[in-house]
Amino acid sequence: MKAVVFQGPYDLQVEDVEDPKIEQPTDVVVRITSTCICGSDLHMYEGRTDAEPGIVFGHENQGIVRRSAQASSASRRGTA
Ligand SMILES: [Zn+2]
Repeated sequence: MKAVVFQGPYDLQVEDVEDPKIEQPTDVVVRITSTCICGSDLHMYEGRTDAEPGIVFGHENQGIVRRSAQASSASRRGTA
């Protein structure tokens, strides 16, 4: 999958990263349909944090659940 990866202050790259996987009983895998880089990311982008290169930006996401660790959870496959 593609992701926006922090390289250092004022340096972001769109890169191929490892596909997500279920690791915990509460995990879901979501196909992202909309996302953004929010103001919180600007602190890292402008070098005001100790963020290390390799961090994936973008936490304001919307999408469709593709896999769920718990079939009976509220986040079942196909829910948005
Ligand atoms: Zn945010």
